[in-house]
Amino acid sequence: MPGTGAAAPRPRHLGRSRVAPDIVRGSPVKRAVGQTTRDLRRHNRTSVLTRLYLHGPASRFDLMRATGLSSATVSNVVTDLVADGLVAEAGLLDSDGGRPRTLLEVRPGYARVVGVDIGETHVQVGLFDWTLETVATATFPMDEGSPEPAVLAALVTAGIEEVTAEAGADPGELLGVGVGVPGAVLPGGLVHAPTLGWSGVPFGGLLAPHVAAPLHLDNCARTLGQAEMWRGAGRGAERAIVALLAVGVGAAVATGSPGGVTSTTSEWGHTVVEAGGAACRCGSRGCLEAYVGADAILEHYAGASGGARPGPSGTEQRVAALMAEAGRPGPAAETVRRTAEYLGIGIANLVNLLSPDRVILSGWVSAAMGPAMLPAVRDAMRRHTLNYLADATAVEIGRLGQEAVALGAATLPVHELLTAGGR
Ligand SMILES: [Zn+2]
Repeated sequence: MPGTGAAAPRPRHLGRSRVAPDIVRGSPVKRAVGQTTRDLRRHNRTSVLTRLYLHGPASRFDLMRATGLSSATVSNVVTDLVADGLVAEAGLLDSDGGRPRTLLEVRPGYARVVGVDIGETHVQVGLFDWTLETVATATFPMDEGSPEPAVLAALVTAGIEEVTAEAGADPGELLGVGVGVPGAVLPGGLVHAPTLGWSGVPFGGLLAPHVAAPLHLDNCARTLGQAEMWRGAGRGAERAIVALLAVGVGAAVATGSPGGVTSTTSEWGHTVVEAGGAACRCGSRGCLEAYVGADAILEHYAGASGGARPGPSGTEQRVAALMAEAGRPGPAAETVRRTAEYLGIGIANLVNLLSPDRVILSGWVSAAMGPAMLPAVRDAMRRHTLNYLADATAVEIGRLGQEAVALGAATLPVHELLTAGGR
């Protein structure tokens, strides 16, 4: 899905612009000094807040050690963050012989965010608190193929109204709305998404007038990578590859450090696993997506079972029906075996190239097929990877559940809040 051309785009902030409220007037020298102090203060707030956000409760002493800031600075920053409602005290921690230390944690009630998953088969809108606990979700099936951008924009706004109404929240008071799209996002909110048949669609511009909170748009594989690192199976990994398996296939390379996480997308789905192989929608042949994308899986099943298609209609329902018969020998089991083999080869290529410590299978196809095919995927990965690299790489299923992609999109406004030091 996901990548689609070009280097990883940066999140686009399209809604209400945030103008710094305290523009310094005066001579250039004074302005430079004022900005430096402010930058330093913001940096200190970001360090403390990010540590608490990503790694959970900590004492002032822990924060001092983790951030390298002085005791007085940590103390001041914490006082400010508590006064702003971002951080609260979370009980006492016994310390050996000494005075018990007060633990601090981020306050989930500080703000709420919306994350939107523009999939190829559904639109899902999730309302989360800013620590990414789910408050409410709304999922709409959509016309598969080439959905009208305006129709999808209307589903998104209806979803935001539904989840905020359900939770009694005011849409205007959201920290922001993050939207994950299965493609590349260019400046001005233009979206290139081949799996949707979109080329340069001004989706950001279509949505912005209907969204009362700051709007962010980004590639869904990149944001999913960020979410798996923050809250899912990537926690604690130094370098994780988060594979998004759906109709399209993409992967994010996510790197974690004590100070935060960076996530970039790759065009993994269009790396070739079979010379002269199956035709891919990108125009090439033998791409991974033409073997492990949901459409390719269903097509193989149809071929193996003499033209039969599992289930009534809808790609997700058909994959579910296929899995329901995969427990006994037959075309479904053979399809699962073949998908696992190609997926393992695709993962082996990534491991040989990037030596991650973890590979995380995410997206709705992973949720549907992952548990059944994981042993075979690991086996195929090992057979195609150098031993010392395979030994150092764990292959796991994502832990973010059905809302994974929406939750990934919700990381966009949160990331901006953390970067801005919580202001
Ligand atoms: Zn391709």
